[in-house]
Amino acid sequence: MKPIANLSQVQCDPGVLHFLPLGGSGEIGMNLNLYGIDGQWLIVDIGITFADDTTPPGIDVICPDISALQSIKESIVGIVITHAHEDHVGGLHYLWRQLKTPVYCTAFTASVARRKLGEAGLLDQVPVNEVLPGAFMELGPFGLEWVTLTHSIPEANALVIRAGEQTIFHTGDWKLDPDPVEGAHYDDRRLLELGELGIDCVVGDSTNATVDGWSGSEAECQKGLLEVIGQQTNRVAVTCFSSNTARLSSLGDVAHETGRRISVLGRSLFNYLQTAKATGYLRNFPPLVPTTDLDYLPRSEQLILATGSQGEPRAAMAKLAKGEHPDLLLEPDDTVVFSSKVIPGNEKKLDRLYDLLSNKKIHVITERDAPIHVSGHPCRDELRWLYRALRPSFVIPVHGEDRHMAAHADIAVELGFGASRVKNGDVLALTADGPKFVACVYAGRLGLSGTVLVPLSDRALSERRVLAVGGMVTVTLVLDKKARLMAAPQVQLIGVPSGELDHKVLIQNLVALVEDVLADQSSRVLQSDELLRETIQRDFGAMLRRWLGIKPRQLVNVVRV
Ligand SMILES: [Zn+2]
Ligand SMILES: [Zn+2]
Repeated sequence: MKPIANLSQVQCDPGVLHFLPLGGSGEIGMNLNLYGIDGQWLIVDIGITFADDTTPPGIDVICPDISALQSIKESIVGIVITHAHEDHVGGLHYLWRQLKTPVYCTAFTASVARRKLGEAGLLDQVPVNEVLPGAFMELGPFGLEWVTLTHSIPEANALVIRAGEQTIFHTGDWKLDPDPVEGAHYDDRRLLELGELGIDCVVGDSTNATVDGWSGSEAECQKGLLEVIGQQTNRVAVTCFSSNTARLSSLGDVAHETGRRISVLGRSLFNYLQTAKATGYLRNFPPLVPTTDLDYLPRSEQLILATGSQGEPRAAMAKLAKGEHPDLLLEPDDTVVFSSKVIPGNEKKLDRLYDLLSNKKIHVITERDAPIHVSGHPCRDELRWLYRALRPSFVIPVHGEDRHMAAHADIAVELGFGASRVKNGDVLALTADGPKFVACVYAGRLGLSGTVLVPLSDRALSERRVLAVGGMVTVTLVLDKKARLMAAPQVQLIGVPSGELDHKVLIQNLVALVEDVLADQSSRVLQSDELLRETIQRDFGAMLRRWLGIKPRQLVNVVRV
């Protein structure tokens, strides 16, 4: 079934709340969800995802394609952002111009959003409204309640959304951390109350639905870091997710307890430290030592915080591993601690980094060696706890790949609740009898190429792949009125290796081939640019495949004078 291009063409029953994910269902990243009733819509989260092996070259950032919303954009009452992770807020400054609607979030998220909007030159245009944790508010037909949960960033909020006959609990990202180190505890009293009041449907985080038990506490992780760092006698460099304020707080405490001073490498760490302090977090975090002063500190008193826990090539940790960081050179018997998980797809990059470090006789400690990382997402027993508290009629798993969402649905069913599977683009009516599929609207992906958002299905990007794989050959012919060559054909190879042939010889052979092809053609072909191009491309392609075994992109320019 072909997806419907515009959401306005979908027949939605009056008085019924509808749910539509445009990103984040069937994938981890790029969350964008909509709730709609009587022609008015609310956006919950507007995130990005990052490129992987399948992404065309030159694309690092990917946003949901929201073209299906163009026809209803006047009816969007607002964008509500649950928390400040990139997969929830990262798309705001890329997509807001297409939506032009107010934004609502708590203070920490607002601070992160404003920084991004400022960098995009949008700060004056986008109304970012700060909401207090636990607040109640109305946006058009939607009654919203913000419920505090714990996660791996300050101010992770679930939303209770009341509209029509329905009460929805939209979890955002969450876990149940009994000792989150920084920020508020989760509001278990309110969760139990909400269960008493009645929740019809939970739309929730599936990330760890395949993982047994509980996700663990930031406080346990702090103990692990203290033990590991306390054992080291030389310099220690730690990398973690910059937005994990609790982890930064723990590292501040560990530095204090182990007699070390902290120095920071990497812009995103500075940004998040600044945001956290400006919004009331990290009050006890020690003052930083400028990297220029590190030479005056013994190695045993240095604790370096560095960006790049996923092996990102431009981040500080990759530069340290290569010995290319301008401000610091790691030395033998230093220790690097990866206080983070490996996001699937980054294994090879990180293995290369571990090798570079161990070749320099630098010790590497990861979460496989010591309890120095905990996940920010609920494992199976936390999901069970939430469902026993809320007792929803139905569960719609989101925020996960298919296997995570399937495992999440199984947990709901095991506890006696209904579960509905959803994929990006599905419009569901949330009725008293459970979610009902209504239609499927277009839900694509946009890649950021420079400053331009391009559909990943765009021809320009598929051509980029062809160029990346096979390179390019250009042929320029200058012909007179009788289609005779006025000069030798110009042949250029871009990204095409010449193999055993000398590059010049290869070009000469190709020029000779063009001349032979031209000599053999009828005047009908010679007088037609199109036929001439086709003929040269066919013969050229066959020859290059035979000589080099590749099929470069070909561009034949015919100039007639
Ligand atoms: Zn998320
Ligand atoms: Zn998150």
